[in-house]
Amino acid sequence: MNPSRQAIEPGAAIGVLGSGQLGRMFTIAARRLGYRVHTYSPETDTPTGQVADVEVVAPYDDLDAVRKFASQVKVLTFEFENVPAATARAAAEKTIVHPDGQVLHITQHRAREKTFLRDNGFPVTPFALVHSLEELTTAAREQNLLPGVLKTAGFGYDGKGQVKVRTLEDLPAAWQAISTTEAVLEKMVDFEMEMSVVAARGVDGRVVDYGVIENIHANHILDLSVWPARIPASAGARAVEVAHAILQKLDVIGVMAVEMFLTRDGQVLVNELAPRPHNSGHLTIEGHNSCQFEQQVRAVCGLPLGGVEPLAPASAMANLLGDVWGDRPDVDSPHWDLALTDPAVKLHLYGKASARKGRKMGHLTARAASTQQAIDAVLGARQRLTVQPSR
Ligand code: AMP
Repeated sequence: MNPSRQAIEPGAAIGVLGSGQLGRMFTIAARRLGYRVHTYSPETDTPTGQVADVEVVAPYDDLDAVRKFASQVKVLTFEFENVPAATARAAAEKTIVHPDGQVLHITQHRAREKTFLRDNGFPVTPFALVHSLEELTTAAREQNLLPGVLKTAGFGYDGKGQVKVRTLEDLPAAWQAISTTEAVLEKMVDFEMEMSVVAARGVDGRVVDYGVIENIHANHILDLSVWPARIPASAGARAVEVAHAILQKLDVIGVMAVEMFLTRDGQVLVNELAPRPHNSGHLTIEGHNSCQFEQQVRAVCGLPLGGVEPLAPASAMANLLGDVWGDRPDVDSPHWDLALTDPAVKLHLYGKASARKGRKMGHLTARAASTQQAIDAVLGARQRLTVQPSR
């Protein structure tokens, strides 16, 4: 048997590259299953480090430190896809890495990812890869890509590195604004909904999913996720079918989130892939039998995947950004007690020392009998965080 497909038994050490909230929730799931967790990142006292067995502090490009870290764990995974290729290769010299470097290579670069999806027949927004203002102008005109969104081809998340362009006249300023040598011009999608399918694929090639999650963004950052997405069953089935096919094609071992648009005319289009647990899947912690983090542990350790049955008809998750601390984050702590007056609401905080606007600090979830009740529960709790109590 291929050694990377053998089960790694509880008690062994798992390595996590990265040390944010995704690593933290992964670590909590791994420790519940009896694994030890080592985390590696350039920072100290991190969300992951606070709950891990070992916190290694070193830069990602210190390849000797990466090799040493990798040699002390039975399997290594990561909580963000922008791991430099050399770092992933150095780790793979010393231990099993899931998902593998090829999955990272494709998903950490927007242009490669879109090309992979298109070339394999997956539904994507019409787009063109451009390297200069001239190429951008020609593509916009000849391929009818306006209005559109111009995005850097390389790293970028939460709407960073992208500019909306409406007319040919917008292009010079947009090209200058993103200041890059390689970009993707995508046609603007007139969408009914943004949604995601969070799925996990085990070493045996079996894929499980949680159906479709509905995502609502504010300022390009995920604000609210709702399960199940309020879409026609046929669109849901199509989204799940596309997600399964993508995980199979990429031969992913682990969790992958497929972010999609449902267009106003009922088409499902893939926007982005995240080869790891995803913010929209946090509601599976309370909402489903085995959450996305447990699935990631099971998949990378070669264990059978867990059941994905829902524990209630609906669930919802609201993100807590640093903004809920207000203008004086050092003194104005949110009213946690008021938020939790609804016993259905669960609070997750990531242990970040300082609250900054736009920084993901935690989230709230609730299970309920209907999607509207779940949404009302988490939004109500979030609102109570910032109201002044009448004393
Ligand atoms: P991304 O970084 O590609 O996930 O984009 C961040 C957000 O920008 C998405 O969640 C959408 O709300 C919006 N967006 C990105 N691409 C498009 C597009 N082609 N058409 C419409 N909205 C888009």
